Amino acid sequence: MADELRSLPSIDKVINDERLVQWRQILPHSLLVDIARQVVEQERLSILNGNPCRPLDYIVDTVCAQLDKLTRLSLQPVINATGVILHTNLGRAPISKRAIAAMESVAHAYSNLEFDLDSGTRGSRDVHVEMLLCRLSGAEAALVVNNNASAVLLALTALVKKREVIVSRGQAVEIGGGFRIPDVMRQSGAKLIEVGTTNCTYIDDYERAISSRTGALLRVHSSNFRIQGFTHFVTLEELLALGERYDIPVFDDLGSGCFLDTTVFGLAPEPTVQESVARGVSLAFFSGDKLLGGPQAGIIVGKEAFVDRLRKHPLARALRIDKVRLAGLAATLSHYIRGEAVKEIPVWRMIAMPVSEIERRASLWAQRLGGLARVVEGESVVGGGSLPGATLPTRVVTIGGGKGRHNIALKLARMLRRCEPPIIGRVEGDYLLLDPRAVLPEQDEIVVQALDNVVASLGR
Ligand SMILES: *Cc1c(COP(=O)(O)O)cnc(C)c1O
Repeated sequence: MADELRSLPSIDKVINDERLVQWRQILPHSLLVDIARQVVEQERLSILNGNPCRPLDYIVDTVCAQLDKLTRLSLQPVINATGVILHTNLGRAPISKRAIAAMESVAHAYSNLEFDLDSGTRGSRDVHVEMLLCRLSGAEAALVVNNNASAVLLALTALVKKREVIVSRGQAVEIGGGFRIPDVMRQSGAKLIEVGTTNCTYIDDYERAISSRTGALLRVHSSNFRIQGFTHFVTLEELLALGERYDIPVFDDLGSGCFLDTTVFGLAPEPTVQESVARGVSLAFFSGDKLLGGPQAGIIVGKEAFVDRLRKHPLARALRIDKVRLAGLAATLSHYIRGEAVKEIPVWRMIAMPVSEIERRASLWAQRLGGLARVVEGESVVGGGSLPGATLPTRVVTIGGGKGRHNIALKLARMLRRCEPPIIGRVEGDYLLLDPRAVLPEQDEIVVQALDNVVASLGR
């Protein structure tokens, strides 16, 4: 063992190895020394455990791998071939070119974020989107915070705290990643009163729960699931009428902020923000990065008196949105103002993409895979807490199936995830499916190249 320990290379020898020459040029010497020490130390422990000393090559390779891991950015773009347009794990909505440009310009330089250019004095960051949001939704006032969960938290903290908020049991939903709306709401200090049953809630259920402690009635859009069969839910009109009778505000957690008519695209009707406002809710909340198609944000629209109280609450400061996303949100909203949302916002372009176009792209991809793949009919999903259960007819490239083919599907899925950028497909049973719908058209070239490479390395 003593011999083995003596054969350990010195730190100098490791960092002066020729394979580290490029790292030596770009990284501080101290970092190289640190990493080399760590790797040699691991090797020393391994020898003490009775293992033979591994060659210098191995140690240098390990150092290189660690330096690579440390310097490469972990968060990176991927190609979404899953067919789920708003994929929460893949970052929800890709944003428009103009939104990107707007974000870049305020990130790059100073801005009038909270500076009034007319008076030359302090201004408010809210003004940059409030007018747009009011115009689009018809609301009196608007406020933007970090995300929709923040919006709900802020509203209940500022307006209900210590009193009760009544919500249908069938709408007390989990929004993915183990987060439950009721848990977020409880953080506000408001007491949640769940009424009705999972599948049925009637207006009488709400009315019976009303007391002097009631602070609000809340509707939550059942965004990521659908209950079928024997169900009954209270309409927003009924809830509003009840709220009015008892002088209790009604809040509407819309989940996905939709301004467009989804039925035009063959989808089920998704409640729109302007509908909710027109019916008279006190406040409506929605996300910036779901169907709205912008950056992550939590948008609150509604009655001035309520929005004003939120604006002044200390939590508003803790939950505020940063200038970069604010710029992206404003640019996204301006697409709606200009009537060009379907043309310019990627999410809506994907929803509106004709099947013939998808078929053309799927065929292009399948050709590269030769006999391995076929193009078949499939379904894309909008996802991201909107249009539960709603799908769009699509064409997918399908690979695998048949005896022993399951492994091919998994193997290909893994190979595609290792491409640069990674390509994420959907494994369904024995098949790997690649749906072009949520792949940006300018990425087709990259997909084709990756498929060529994968086929070539399979043949080897
Ligand atoms: C998605 C969703 C949320 C959470 O929105 P974030 O922007 O992710 O915080 C809250 N409520 C509903 C109904 C949702 O669908």
